Amino acid sequence: MIDFEKLPAAADKNISVRVKSAAERALRQGHPWVYEDAIVKQSHLGNAGDLAVVYDREKNNFLAVGLYDPLSPIRIKVLQSLQPKRINRGFFAEKLKAASMKRQPLINQKTTGYRLVYGESDGFPALVVDRYGDALALKLYSSVWIPHLKALLEALGDTISFDRLVLRLSRTLQTDRLNVGKLYGLNDGQRLLGDAAPGPAQFVENGLLFQADMAKGHKTGFFFDQRDNRLKAREWAGGRRVLDVFSYTGGFSVNALAGGARSVTALDASAPALETLKVNVENNGYDLANVDVIAADAFAGMWQMIESKRKFNMVVVDPPAFANSRASMRKAVTAYRRLVEMALRLLANDGVLFMASCSNRIDAEMFYELVTRSASVAGFKLDVLEKTGHALDHPIGFPEAAYLKAIFARVTK
Ligand code: SAH
Repeated sequence: MIDFEKLPAAADKNISVRVKSAAERALRQGHPWVYEDAIVKQSHLGNAGDLAVVYDREKNNFLAVGLYDPLSPIRIKVLQSLQPKRINRGFFAEKLKAASMKRQPLINQKTTGYRLVYGESDGFPALVVDRYGDALALKLYSSVWIPHLKALLEALGDTISFDRLVLRLSRTLQTDRLNVGKLYGLNDGQRLLGDAAPGPAQFVENGLLFQADMAKGHKTGFFFDQRDNRLKAREWAGGRRVLDVFSYTGGFSVNALAGGARSVTALDASAPALETLKVNVENNGYDLANVDVIAADAFAGMWQMIESKRKFNMVVVDPPAFANSRASMRKAVTAYRRLVEMALRLLANDGVLFMASCSNRIDAEMFYELVTRSASVAGFKLDVLEKTGHALDHPIGFPEAAYLKAIFARVTK
């Protein structure tokens, strides 16, 4: 638990800001970011999380209010545009209610694990809240939220029902120059509200039971963004030998078994994730005898399988983000190409390929082009079954929020 009194408060005096015309236009269209170099005038320097109010240069009208982030090129993270509103517990509560309403359809889909708040797209820049049954994981990507943490937690208590809440801090936040998390006694994986959990978090996704490590797992413990794709993979898996590359804790593997896969081979570099995968398989009543787990580097592991002439009828490739900066683009493209080529070589004739990318620098068109070209260069024919994107709980509120694209294809030589 933390002592809220020790957290910094946002300054009483708001920072008043003027920005370039292009930035004014973007704000009028509801874009949630003001870049550092778009600011032409600013009343005073502020601290992380102080409120910055942008007025238009011509008439001095209110354009937007947001959280000031002195360490980030995205200098103002917008909370509210066009119509002024007080930023407080009630403001956050309204946004949370709206976010929660949006996720209502998931309940009918036998799903209790989902992203309740997806950053800017739900009005909470640089922040996500994931629900794992009765538990919530709150992940902060910027220190701007620290002065507003108390109001935010109160708003969650006002609007959302849950038993406990775990705090996760982004890597940047854990290692930034000021080390703000540590400074205020905030730790990644720390419980902020509710009693200690008796065990790992449990939740249901499309009727399947999963467990996740909310305190130490990747992101907040699970990758909810692939829910729809996992269900589609379930539909294709019947009678097939399935290879699940970058399996993590078995989201695709368990769905493949639920769809009647003959066998599943899961490949991931993380041994603890694979242990959880086995638990997830067994908790759903599937036989571990049909499941092979391989803890290895995906590239090396796939190559070894090619050399030993292994064949599968379905290959799932769900890699981590390879390109989130311009500099890493070229390397990422090469990595995707190699993965496609290896996956195709591991497929028996008339197999199904599922390939995804969550790199935000590689847009959907580029990705599909990359996959189809790599296939044709390697001498394979791809019949695209479906191209997919974001699930309902990852709404795309502005262009930069779109990162996930995936393709299902039938493959013939
Ligand atoms: N498909 C999963 C999510 C995958 S997340 C699901 O549906 O839940 C990406 C995974 O890639 C993580 O589990 C991480 O451990 C793994 N990973 C990252 N780099 C890797 C590498 N070089 N070789 C193998 N696995 C890797």
